Amino acid sequence: MNIIDHLRARAAELSDLHHVMALMQWDQEVMLPVRAAAERAQQFATMSGIAHRKEVDPALGELIRTAEADGDALSVVDQALVRRMRRDYDQSTKLPEEFVVALSALTSQALPVWVAARKNNDFASFAPLLAKLVAMSRRQADYLGYEKEPYDALLDLYEEGLTAGRVRECFDALRDPLRTMIAKAGGGRDEPPWEGEMFAVEEQIRFADRMLAMIGFDFDRGRQDRSAHPFSTGLGGCDQRVTNRYSPRSIEFIFSALHEGGHALYEQNVGADLARTPLGAGVSLGIHESQSRLWENIIGRSASFWRHCLPLLREAFPAQFGEMELGRLMRMINAVRPGLIRVEADELSYNLHVLIRFELELALINGELATTDLPAAWNERYRDYLGVAVPSDSDGVLQDIHWAHGSFGYFPTYTIGNLASAQIWHAYCAVDPEHEATIGQGDFGRIRGWLTEQIYRHGSVYPPEELLLRVTGERLNPDYFLRYLKNKFMV
Ligand code: ZN
Repeated sequence: MNIIDHLRARAAELSDLHHVMALMQWDQEVMLPVRAAAERAQQFATMSGIAHRKEVDPALGELIRTAEADGDALSVVDQALVRRMRRDYDQSTKLPEEFVVALSALTSQALPVWVAARKNNDFASFAPLLAKLVAMSRRQADYLGYEKEPYDALLDLYEEGLTAGRVRECFDALRDPLRTMIAKAGGGRDEPPWEGEMFAVEEQIRFADRMLAMIGFDFDRGRQDRSAHPFSTGLGGCDQRVTNRYSPRSIEFIFSALHEGGHALYEQNVGADLARTPLGAGVSLGIHESQSRLWENIIGRSASFWRHCLPLLREAFPAQFGEMELGRLMRMINAVRPGLIRVEADELSYNLHVLIRFELELALINGELATTDLPAAWNERYRDYLGVAVPSDSDGVLQDIHWAHGSFGYFPTYTIGNLASAQIWHAYCAVDPEHEATIGQGDFGRIRGWLTEQIYRHGSVYPPEELLLRVTGERLNPDYFLRYLKNKFMV
């Protein structure tokens, strides 16, 4: 075997282990009996221990070093494989084992405390653990290393090469235009919430399956199930799982299906030759989110999409939507209502929710904000940026799970995804100027084919910014997203 074959064999083994753990995680969210949680936690600990030992094996480091010496002689894919394995190896070996164990113990301890704190509107009970999580994340950044600021090291975990400076630039471009547009969009566009008859959940599931099949989700290589929160996970090249949730008076499940379906289309169309390697999945959280948001919002909340789908909706739910008109539906699903909760936010206000989290976690990591002052800082920004008063910490600073997970640096990838989605869509519109007719006729194969060719099939071969540059001819540029919002909401 040559050196690349040796590396591929190592990669295949690690990929299998991670997919088995992903299956255990999926099972925990979808199937696990209540009393099996403790056992499952032990099984996770055992499996992660086995995977970790293989990830930090010095012999693997030696193989990577040898392959790096071949450098330019390797194919583009093999160079990417080596680069990616180096990145994973460094991330695993830079953190001392006792630190990894301590961080994992701390997050296991913090999660139930956060759940209770949110339930009881009791930030004070969570604050000491949050302070520890901030301190640990700061240490994590020091272990991982950074050029300018500690936060860069945390961002890089989720979005290779992203820095706080770059995120700041993006938000500086977004902050004022978003606030202006929200102020203008308020009022006239506000549509009373839809109150129809209850849906039968079986009908909702059937319709969600139909939407997924329509955009090209391959049910021979994936499934849709139910869970408390919708998510998408890959268990291998031929096994993509998405989940959804259904409430009897909401069509939110349609947008969840399109969102998770967008993640799944990306994974299902990665080149088969990349399977069982670290290149065989979407490249970063930001690029991944660009695909979920493109299908959910740019396509899924457009008039052309509903020109095709409204008849299907009427037919599936005659009691609820038999009389629904396109204009009313469009106002309903695109209503602008700045509110308290990020996951319920409209397209105009969503990124201000992310901006608030970015500013606050940056200040926490840099030691400029104490966790005890966090709720006040949170509430002040919600008043300032979104014009809403925060009535309780449960609906404020305690609403997201990310910090309880110790995931600092994760939030900005949501905005990166939104910005990239508009930039990628702009590139598609240039090759399909008739895109409104294409989508309006229910032809989703054309855009899926283009996205597959440009993005999906490459998996993680190109780093995120390089991929965007190849697809759109530019680095990330917030102008496309602002232009998209203006065309949609300011007419
Ligand atoms: Zn997503």
